[in-house]
Amino acid sequence: MRVLVVEDESQLAELLATGLRGRGMAVDVSLDGADALEKTSINGYDVIVLDRDLPEVTGDEVCRRLERDAAGNPRVIMLTASGTISQRVEGLDLGADDYLPKPFAFDELAARVRALGRRAGPAGPTILARGGLTLDSATLRAEREGRPLDLTLKEFGVLHELLRADGAVVSAEELLERVWDEHADPFTTTVRVTMSRLRRKLGTPSPIETVPGAGYRIS
Ligand code: CA
Repeated sequence: MRVLVVEDESQLAELLATGLRGRGMAVDVSLDGADALEKTSINGYDVIVLDRDLPEVTGDEVCRRLERDAAGNPRVIMLTASGTISQRVEGLDLGADDYLPKPFAFDELAARVRALGRRAGPAGPTILARGGLTLDSATLRAEREGRPLDLTLKEFGVLHELLRADGAVVSAEELLERVWDEHADPFTTTVRVTMSRLRRKLGTPSPIETVPGAGYRIS
């Protein structure tokens, strides 16, 4: 799942990004609204964590100008300084999918981001299973034929995207887009390195098939 955190207080922004990365999400940060709109025009995000109180281009304006696809993605959770009922309604009227008043508990934010990401993605359930593999994106646990796998967050993310594709081929570029954030090495060698580590951990026979010139799949 890929998330954009838009928050002008840089310490808070980094704190949120680090926390969400720790939950297995790929996270980018924008410190202002204009940058957020630019990033959303380039990258496909599942969820945007949007602070309402931003200088210049406000959170409300970002929400209004945000381009969404036919399914209403990316989803937006808006953070506001005050949690009065009228402001809550106003926030939702602007097109935010959810709303969280500051101060909030990080666990609460993470749970809501995950819930919004589930609505945004093509696959609903937190548990995905295919080819003898079982993945729980809520607990970040993975198993092969009942044997627990000790995966890094990136390895987990790659496996999650392959299972989510439900037998379809996923290209290295798509994996790079969905699992890594914008600070990643922009070359698909990053994906290949992670893929070979992941395959070693999964054991033989490898459930991940390489489709030459196209990508990877789990059939
Ligand atoms: Ca702010």
